[in-house]
Amino acid sequence: MPGVRAGSALPVRGLCVTGNTWGRGRRERGDGRRQRGDGWRQRGDGWRRAGAGGLRWRGVGRAAPHHHEPGGGLAYSAAAAQSYLLSALELRYPFGKSVVEGGLANPLSPSQSSCVRAFLRDTSTATAVLRQASTVVHECGHFWDLGTSQGGRSNYVLAPGLTRACSRGDTTARGGATFARSLIKADAFGPMRAPCVTMSSSGCDFYAAVYLDGSPTNATFESGDQGFNSLLEEANQYVNSLASALAFRDSFQNTRVSERDGILTFLWYLERYLLLARTTYPEAYATLSQDPCWREAILSVWDRAWFYLQATAPFASNLGISDARLRTLVETPTLLAEVDALRALQCP
Ligand SMILES: [Zn+2]
Repeated sequence: MPGVRAGSALPVRGLCVTGNTWGRGRRERGDGRRQRGDGWRQRGDGWRRAGAGGLRWRGVGRAAPHHHEPGGGLAYSAAAAQSYLLSALELRYPFGKSVVEGGLANPLSPSQSSCVRAFLRDTSTATAVLRQASTVVHECGHFWDLGTSQGGRSNYVLAPGLTRACSRGDTTARGGATFARSLIKADAFGPMRAPCVTMSSSGCDFYAAVYLDGSPTNATFESGDQGFNSLLEEANQYVNSLASALAFRDSFQNTRVSERDGILTFLWYLERYLLLARTTYPEAYATLSQDPCWREAILSVWDRAWFYLQATAPFASNLGISDARLRTLVETPTLLAEVDALRALQCP
């Protein structure tokens, strides 16, 4: 595929390129976003922009894709669903293929319950498989990152050729320098999109029940007890989810999914965590803001998220549900200022 260079590196200095100022302030944001996309084109993340026409689109396989058949050009059989998914990713989101292979190679991912087997649940049709690419790449991404993390170092495979292994990211109770991610629930921003009480509620934050649950001071371990390293890990994989959904956007034509909501929610959590750290947990904030490893990992996830949010904006009626509301929350100036502060430290 012309323009696709899956192995190309994303230089960290890209975080400081003039004009690549996502979320750096109201005045700059409009133009900054457009330039951000152009910057990524040169780095090759599996996509390129084609001028005003948006992303250049190619079907899976050599044959032109049919609207009712997103997998046109690749033969599908349920027995070979995994190799079908890998071939489709190779054509439309090569980094996603690397992520799945990285997850499969992890010893935590034995063949009987590998990250593909465990999360590719519906293999009835090609379309069903492509719709689950978002989940499979996300979960295999966790396997890859966790499998390559050692001791107190959290490894993040952030983009083609870009990884960071950062230290002390878990909570102080778990050997690190940060605090439980569930603690952001009690901040001033939580009520603006309150955690859902039941999963059938609407207009509320249903991610909070999964990721920000529990309390670090009770006797039971809950997902929300984990520290900043786990928050960034989720954000990293929600970027991969959105990129995968974009790659197979034609499989979502008659439906509406929360792909944009997921990463926007996690950008909101990241901002809120940084604010709470800076104001209440100085050791955590010093770790995240003074260690270039954490700054680079956070800013890389942030910038890559906005690249895919921009690229998926034309398809928001399929790929988002409450994304407009969430974007407003993420763009709260006091919250954007937290990311600006990290970038100012990174790019003096
Ligand atoms: Zn996850």
